Amino acid sequence: MRTVFLDVDTQIDFMFPAGALYVPGAERLLPAIARLNHFAAAHGIPLISTADAHSENDPEFRQWPPHCVVGTTGQLKPAETLVGAGQTIVEKQALDVFTNPDFSALLDRLQADRYVVYGVATDYCVRCAVTGLFATGKPIALVTDAIAAVNPEDGARTLAEFTARGGTLTTVNELTN
Ligand SMILES: [Zn+2]
Repeated sequence: MRTVFLDVDTQIDFMFPAGALYVPGAERLLPAIARLNHFAAAHGIPLISTADAHSENDPEFRQWPPHCVVGTTGQLKPAETLVGAGQTIVEKQALDVFTNPDFSALLDRLQADRYVVYGVATDYCVRCAVTGLFATGKPIALVTDAIAAVNPEDGARTLAEFTARGGTLTTVNELTN
């Protein structure tokens, strides 16, 4: 079975308290994200890391504080999440990674039998990603100890919707042991 890991928006602006659009508690996920990414690299599992890549006057900044502007430190991914071989960075200018046409083309090439999804934020970009992935008809697992929400209630609602649609919940240990 061909599994693809999808690491959503684990960028400095989202992951750290000093970041421009910090997701509460996200810095505590970093060891889990790093472990998953390195596990993927070590086992030949294709890893897609999505990354917000905004211009200084991006239309999205009408709704959100400016974040992940190309050329800033905040737009980068923390070093421990970068694994090199097998990792593809897919940039995007909107919440939904499917707005980048390269993403669907990449999925077509990878021919996954299953997707494993983690990152931030559960109630926004992770939610958009899994919603799009459901259209592929393939099984999707969300890694509950490697996600964080902007709003805990919206995060819980996202998980409830996800499992109601047939998604499964897993953990870092379950995947990597
Ligand atoms: Zn953004």
